[in-house]
Amino acid sequence: MFNSVRVRLTVWYSAVLAVVLVLVSATTYFIVQKSSMQRTDGDLAVLADSFLVTFQAELLDAPNTPGSAILSAAQQSMVEHRSNNDTFLVLGPGREIVASSTGTFSPGVRSDRSVASALASREFQSFTKMRESKEAGLETIRAEHSRFRAYSRQFQANGQNYLLVILHSLHAQYEVLETIRLTFSWMILLGLLLAGTGGYFLARRSMAPVVAMGAHARRIGATNLHERLPVLNANDELGQLATIFNDLLNRLDQSFERQRRFIADASHELRTPLAILRGEAEVAMSQQGRTAEDYLESLQILHEETSRLIKIVEDLFTLTRADSGQYPISQEDVYLEEVVADCAHSVRTLAREKNIELSVDAASECLVRGDRELLRRMILNLLDNAIKYSAEGGRVDVACLATTTACEVHVTDTGPGIPPDLRDRIFERFFRADPARSRSGREGGAGLGLSIALWIAQAHHGRLELVCSDWTGTHFAAFLPGPGIARTGTD
Ligand code: ADP
Repeated sequence: MFNSVRVRLTVWYSAVLAVVLVLVSATTYFIVQKSSMQRTDGDLAVLADSFLVTFQAELLDAPNTPGSAILSAAQQSMVEHRSNNDTFLVLGPGREIVASSTGTFSPGVRSDRSVASALASREFQSFTKMRESKEAGLETIRAEHSRFRAYSRQFQANGQNYLLVILHSLHAQYEVLETIRLTFSWMILLGLLLAGTGGYFLARRSMAPVVAMGAHARRIGATNLHERLPVLNANDELGQLATIFNDLLNRLDQSFERQRRFIADASHELRTPLAILRGEAEVAMSQQGRTAEDYLESLQILHEETSRLIKIVEDLFTLTRADSGQYPISQEDVYLEEVVADCAHSVRTLAREKNIELSVDAASECLVRGDRELLRRMILNLLDNAIKYSAEGGRVDVACLATTTACEVHVTDTGPGIPPDLRDRIFERFFRADPARSRSGREGGAGLGLSIALWIAQAHHGRLELVCSDWTGTHFAAFLPGPGIARTGTD
């Protein structure tokens, strides 16, 4: 149950509310209790003043016998200050009761039994004994079923010290406080019940979109990756969460789509050479009386197609490792002009076969940090394309130069150029401007060369661009960040 955010939220909310309600109620209760007690104490002081004034007046009018004068003055004053909640006592010098209002007004005084038990209590005894000073005394006395506030004041009569004690019943006061306590308890319980139920429904309502999102997300799989989570309010937190999820699904969908296309294209590319291999093998096996030259020719075709297959598989392997970030790219100092010269040397036979003039300008020293083999592969791909797509007797220029911030490799040819509407797509995998031409014959590529070259440039924090292409030729340039010019060959 506590695994549910809704329940946890409700519990927390109710707990905090309970603490606040209890604190507020307790504070209010104690303030009310204290102020009511202060008011009672003040009233008792005023009552004692008034009683003593009446007492002194009655004493003056009383007969001359000292004992009976005090008694009758006290009784007269008690009659005048009679109240249901107050009991008056006049104690003599030896703390013996001289006059008392208990029992005297039995019809009016509500609980004489409680008063009697209060008078008999130890608390009362010690309260009256301690009253030696002239100061007024105050204390709460616990009796059988109720409590009393005891007030005492010393006074002089006929040259002797007497003690006036007023016992004020706190019954009514405690009844009010009890009512307040009960009211507060019910209010807290009811408040918690309401807040808990309301909080739970509120939490349920707030969490409903999350639950709906979860249920929806659970239904999304590889087959329906195009589905998106519902966004009720794009501006609130849950809406933003749904949007983030949807963006993630978008990326996943695109990545899945790329993978699907990649696999489909790769299978398609592998099918042609495999079909040729099988066809050639079948021909070789079926024809009787073939000469050694015939077999040699078949073997040459098999060899060429196998090489083509190996090249495609290697390229595919490179790209898949590049995609998963698992291609190990070494970091060494590479003099790019040396790599360019080396690549030019490697393709010179190819160029010569097509009677293409290959010019190399690799005089500037271009130092970059990176993977020598990969950089070589990038330049070879560009040179290979330049020779492949140039007509017989054409010209290919390759130059390596260094600027203050980068090393640049430029490859220019005099081929037919790339049609303007296809230029944006030449870096796509398996893209060929002229598939028919590329796939057939020895020059056929799988459309992976430029994708790999672009990845290599980017893996070295550089870029590969088609600078320009028209009917006079095509110009590719790779820009790789490097420490700049160390020295130039012309210096
Ligand atoms: P391919 O293996 O087919 O050469 P690439 O990825 O290297 O694949 O090139 C993609 C396409 O870009 C090629 O099929 C070709 O149409 C076009 N292309 C690339 N380089 C050149 C170039 N120098 N001149 C003309 N077209 C080019």
